[in-house]
Amino acid sequence: MLTWYGDASVQIADGAAAQGAVNPWVALAYLVAGVFFILALRGLSSPQTSRTGNRFGMIGMGIAVITTLVTHDIANIVEIGIAIAIGGIIGFTIARKIAMTAMPELVAAFHSLVGLAAVLVGWAAYLNPDAFGLLVGDSIGAVSKVEMGLGIAIGAITFSGSVIAFAKLSGKMSGSPILLPARHLINLGTLAAIVVLTAMFAMATGPEETFPLIVAITVLAFAIGFLLIIPIGGADMPVVVSMLNSYSGWAAAAMGFTLGNTAMIITGALVGASGAILSYIMCKAMNRSFISVIAGGFGAESGGSDGGEPREQRPYKQGSAADAAFMLEQAEKVIIIPGYGMAVAQAQHALREMTDLLEEKGIDVKFAIHPVAGRMPGHMNVLLAEASVDYDKVFELEDINSEFAQADVAFIIGANDVVNPAAKSDKSSPIYGMPVFDVDKAKQVFFIKRSMGGVGYAGVDNDVFYMDQTMMLLSDAKKMVEEIVKALD
Ligand code: NDP
Repeated sequence: MLTWYGDASVQIADGAAAQGAVNPWVALAYLVAGVFFILALRGLSSPQTSRTGNRFGMIGMGIAVITTLVTHDIANIVEIGIAIAIGGIIGFTIARKIAMTAMPELVAAFHSLVGLAAVLVGWAAYLNPDAFGLLVGDSIGAVSKVEMGLGIAIGAITFSGSVIAFAKLSGKMSGSPILLPARHLINLGTLAAIVVLTAMFAMATGPEETFPLIVAITVLAFAIGFLLIIPIGGADMPVVVSMLNSYSGWAAAAMGFTLGNTAMIITGALVGASGAILSYIMCKAMNRSFISVIAGGFGAESGGSDGGEPREQRPYKQGSAADAAFMLEQAEKVIIIPGYGMAVAQAQHALREMTDLLEEKGIDVKFAIHPVAGRMPGHMNVLLAEASVDYDKVFELEDINSEFAQADVAFIIGANDVVNPAAKSDKSSPIYGMPVFDVDKAKQVFFIKRSMGGVGYAGVDNDVFYMDQTMMLLSDAKKMVEEIVKALD
């Protein structure tokens, strides 16, 4: 087994040993990288500073990678260069091609790779502990085995959970919660078994004892990742995205322990902690209990993007771009609620033009952003920033919801679940309990979507379509707004 790495094993062992000796310059460089990562997170917390935040993150990662490469006698620099080039080209190509609306599934797919990497690093360290400087006498130290067990477990959960999230978000499997009977018991039992097996693994000696245990930890962790994510669906999916983000951070931190790399531990912990905070914020925004969601869809009994029962036909009013433009010109206050459909149509630039024209006519225009609008956290903010919409016109749900009562027009463009009053009144709805915009309080509601048949992510009908003050503008969002702009001009 020790020949698995060939000559490289000796070099990695030297590297790990050097790491153990803690070269003060390496420690300092990693500390500086860590400070840049913290500044990056600070910057990313607001749209105004997010570009600077991104740059800080890139600088921090650059320092960490270069320090690791120059100070560790790592395997073969040419092989590493080739691996970086291949990975870089693949990443660059995907990033250029990917549609903004497909970002969540891409993020889920990338998280699965982080998880898999953690599993592979853990297994590599188990198979060749000498190369990682983990031997205490003849066998792997108990603490290293705990780190290894946890790293493999978190990595495997991240991998299988992310694969399911990818399949759900990309529509390759049903987005509805899949609720197994006795799922909480199964989940708790599996998690308890992983903890017990990790403790046994730490105490075991010799390959005959440790091998079956590490195999069992790996298999059970793959299974629990799958079991934890399949019961989550419908409107709870945003939490899954941020939660897997957090898991991937913990998996990276666990890898950092195994590899003896401080920068990885710091970065992993930062990603893990910020992902956990984001999951908590998303849960609060959706009025969900964090524990319930991560425990695997407590209380989720129905719903999902399949649509369920065929919907009854109800009367609704339909209008044209000219009608909308005419009424907008009479308004004093307009609140725009963008959603996923705006992203699909890429209507943000046309919407900016419309906003400019309305403001020129003295009309007060504001944007209302729901925390789960679109398909990823901050989705709408990014699109509006891209179209240079002023940040001070963009408001969060809790800051603007009381203003609908004074609005002449609630202009809904490609949003659906985030304005659905069923969240307030229908206990059987999959979005029940999620705070939504009180658009029904506005004097007029304009609702842009392509057809009456299309539903939102949660797959449920929306009473707003049929209200007296609602005018349905059935068209692609960009086309409709461009026509409104023409009519306003
Ligand atoms: P929804 O998914 O509820 O609704 C989208 C609306 O856009 C539909 O009414 C659809 O109707 C319309 N639409 C789609 N394409 C176009 C187009 N080209 N032109 C005009 N309209 C279009 O969006 P919301 O933003 O309101 O809600 C987000 C949902 O996604 C929530 O349920 C949330 O939980 C979930 N989610 C959010 C994530 C996040 O992190 N933000 C991640 C994963 C899920 P039609 O087809 O008829 O046009």
